[in-house]
Parts: sequence; C-alpha cells; structure tokens
Amino acid sequence: MDNDLKKLLSKIKEQRPGADLELVELAYDFAKKAHEGQKRFSGEPYFSHPYNAALILAEMKMSPEMIVAALLHDVVEETEITVKDLEKDFGADVAFLVEGVTKVGRVKYRGVERYLENLRKMFIAMAVDLRVIIIRFADRLDNLRTLFVHPREKQVRIAQESLEIYAPIANRLGMGEIKGLIEDAAFKYALPEEYKWVVNLAAKKQAAHAQYLEKLKKQLEKELTKNGIKYIFVEGRVKHFYSLYLKLLRYERDLTKIHDLVALRVVVNDTADCYRVLGLIHQLWAPIQGRIKDYIAQPKINGYQSLHTTVFTEEKKVVEFQIRTQAMHDLAEFGVAAHWHYDEKGKASYRPSKEMSWVQELSKWKKEIDANRKNLERLKVDVLKNRIFVFTPKGDVIDLPEEATPVDFAYAIHTQIGDKCSRAYVNDIIVNLDHTLKNGDIIEVLIDKNRKGPNPAWLKFVKSSVARTHIKSATKAEREGFLSKILK
Ligand code: MN
Repeated sequence: MDNDLKKLLSKIKEQRPGADLELVELAYDFAKKAHEGQKRFSGEPYFSHPYNAALILAEMKMSPEMIVAALLHDVVEETEITVKDLEKDFGADVAFLVEGVTKVGRVKYRGVERYLENLRKMFIAMAVDLRVIIIRFADRLDNLRTLFVHPREKQVRIAQESLEIYAPIANRLGMGEIKGLIEDAAFKYALPEEYKWVVNLAAKKQAAHAQYLEKLKKQLEKELTKNGIKYIFVEGRVKHFYSLYLKLLRYERDLTKIHDLVALRVVVNDTADCYRVLGLIHQLWAPIQGRIKDYIAQPKINGYQSLHTTVFTEEKKVVEFQIRTQAMHDLAEFGVAAHWHYDEKGKASYRPSKEMSWVQELSKWKKEIDANRKNLERLKVDVLKNRIFVFTPKGDVIDLPEEATPVDFAYAIHTQIGDKCSRAYVNDIIVNLDHTLKNGDIIEVLIDKNRKGPNPAWLKFVKSSVARTHIKSATKAEREGFLSKILK
C-alpha cells in the first residue's frame, strides 16, 4: 500500500473509527489508474488533485461515500470512464454524487454576470443533495491552493468566483471552516496588494499573541479543573485573513480596534457548562461592556451557537473567548454537514429532504445576495420549485418548466431554433421531440433550415409559455398565408 493511501485511510479512521474503508481503497486504485499519464498544469500527476480533495473531506469528517466520490470526481470528465461504469463498481449513490459534481463543473465561464447567474442556478438545482456541493468545495479549495501555476487572468477569475459564490454558499450552510479556507486561498489572488497588507499587519501581532494565548490557555485550564468544570479542549484560534480584512474595512483599517484577532475557544460537555465557564472567566478577568454575546439563546441565522465575551487580562491585554459544546463546535466548523457524521444509518438521513429548510434558507440567502448584488438577482422561490435546469453543449444553464421537452429548450434558446428544430440529442442520445427532460441533461437541438415553421402537433406536449405562444402564432400566420393564396 503506498504512503498517500495510508495517510488518507488513517485520516478517515482518526475521524470515524468504525468506517468501512474497502471502497475507499478501491476508489483510490481505480482513480489513480484512470488518470494515469495525465498531468496537472503544475506538472504533477493529475491524480494528486482528486486525492487532495478527498483528504480535505476526510479532515472535515465527511462520510466514506463522499471521500470515494471525491477520489472519482474527475474521472467522468477527464477519462473514458462513464457514470454507468462507476455505478457498476461503486454503487448508485457514489455514481450519483460523481455525476452531480461533474454537472456543476460543466458550467463554463462566459462573462461575470452570466457566469454567476449560471453557477447560482446550478447550485440550486443540485441542492437536492448538499453532499455534491460539499465535494465541490473540496475540489475548489484544492484548485485554489494550486492556482499559482496559472496565468494571472485565470487566477483572478477563479479567486473572484470563489469569493462571490462559493464562500457565501459555505457561509449560508454554516460551514465556517471551509468558508474561511476558501476565502483566504482566494484573497491572495483576488486582491494581492490588500492581502499583503493584511498579512504584514496581522502576522507580527498574531505571533506575539500566540505565545500569550498559550500562557492564558494553561491558566484557564487550571482554573477549570480547580472549579470542577470538565472541558473537552481549550484551543487558540487565529482569525482568517479575509474576514479580518473585511472587519478592518469597517474599522478605518485600524488594527487596534479589532479585538478578536486571536481568541481562546473552550469546548465543554453541555450548555450549562458553557454558562459556568462564562461565569468563571468573568470572575478571573473583567469583561468589556457590550462585548458579551449569547448566541446560544439567540443563534445566528445559519445556526451558529456559542457564547462570546471579551475581557481585560492581568497584563491589560484584550482577549476574546468563545465557549461552546462539541455539537455547537462541529456545527460552526462543518455546518449542515455536521448533522450527518453522527448518523451512519440509512441514506435518507444523509440527504436532506427536498422540502428541507434549504428552500426556506434560500429565501434568506436571496436577501443576502440582494443586499450584495442587487442586479444579479431575479430569483423567486415559488417559480423555482417547478423548474428544471438543463445545459447547452457549451455549458450554459437553461431553466425550463418541469417535464419540458427539447422543443421548449429550442424556443428558450431562440425563436428561430424553436421554429426550425428537427432533431434533438439528450446526453448524446437521439430522442423524440416530445421527450421529457430531466435536471442536468445536456441538450443539443439540430435545425432543418428548409423547414417552414413549427408543427402544430407540438402544442400537445410543450410546457413553456414561450414555446406555446410562438407555435400558435407561427401556425396561425402560416394558415393565413395559405388562405390568402387560395383566395387570390
Ligand atoms: Mn476537480
């Protein structure tokens, strides 16, 4: 067994002692062989990319199926292997995940506005299974970490879309850890000068603080033990650079006004202990007024819970404490994904139901995006409910009513294409024009230039009002033309 595989397996075992690793081993060998001979932009073997994505997910305590899917996530796109092949060897669930990740990946860049629109739609379409999006996060994070080999233009594009799309979605899902990692990796390329400024500004101070925090940590641990409060762990946490940057912008770029540059995090067994720890900290050090936040009684919109307080220590230093239970901690780091790794039974518990809070979440999320980018947003939740999202061969996303057909698709592209469409391919297979399209299908429509106009019989199966209107008006015009010829 090679060392990389050993490392991955031990990482999974560390996070999930009972996990079945046989499929992971199989997927490792399979993907490594499938990508054999392929190189990344950097010259590394291509397989290092899916491998790193799998490692990121293992660190996030994700399920073995997700890790398997991450290892395989690029084989459909980059090799001859099909989703069907994967289904045979790895089962329907893994094949479903890889297919989902592949589809999200097919969305191509075509101007910032258009692209964002497409990507956002795609995320929504894929929201039936959030695991797909989480695998995409790991994929994206590894791409960001190896961005240095790419030309400047590509670096900026990938970095910007990471900040504008991926990070807000991670935040929306409460996945604070991955959000911070994506933002920091992207920050460097999106705003290089600002990045340098923040790093220089913060690094020295953080290093000095780190030593002090270590001392404070020991002191607190001693006090906790003395007062009979059991704790799971106490750790120092350093603020991510990008979130520090945003905060600095709100505080006249003045680092002395930022009090959570470093913080101590205390993780305990239950909520009652959280408040006991808070009381103890306030006995030891004087709290700063207005800085005590009870996110346990009043969780943040994405579900985040913790007690926060900022105190003056003996050395007249300002330090923030965050106090939480293990469950609150996992939720803060992994968000929605945190619920899954406690529940190993049945697939249903992994996959949030369609009606899940996601749709409700979406309306809140919409407000946030509206606030950020008013003109980008034309989304209405009620409209989305009965829509499907399909692709052009070039990767543009077209949204259509449920049960739409290739004719609806053709009219959504252009009236001329609708009027003259003659054949349709769905995922490279020829279909009838009344074929029912599904979420994520790739559709190609061929036109017959000699065709006079649409077939009135299409009215029996089209679903979109655009198609209906055009077919009606075209056939009416044709009839009138025919009549006028007869009457002449
Ligand atoms: Mn990839």
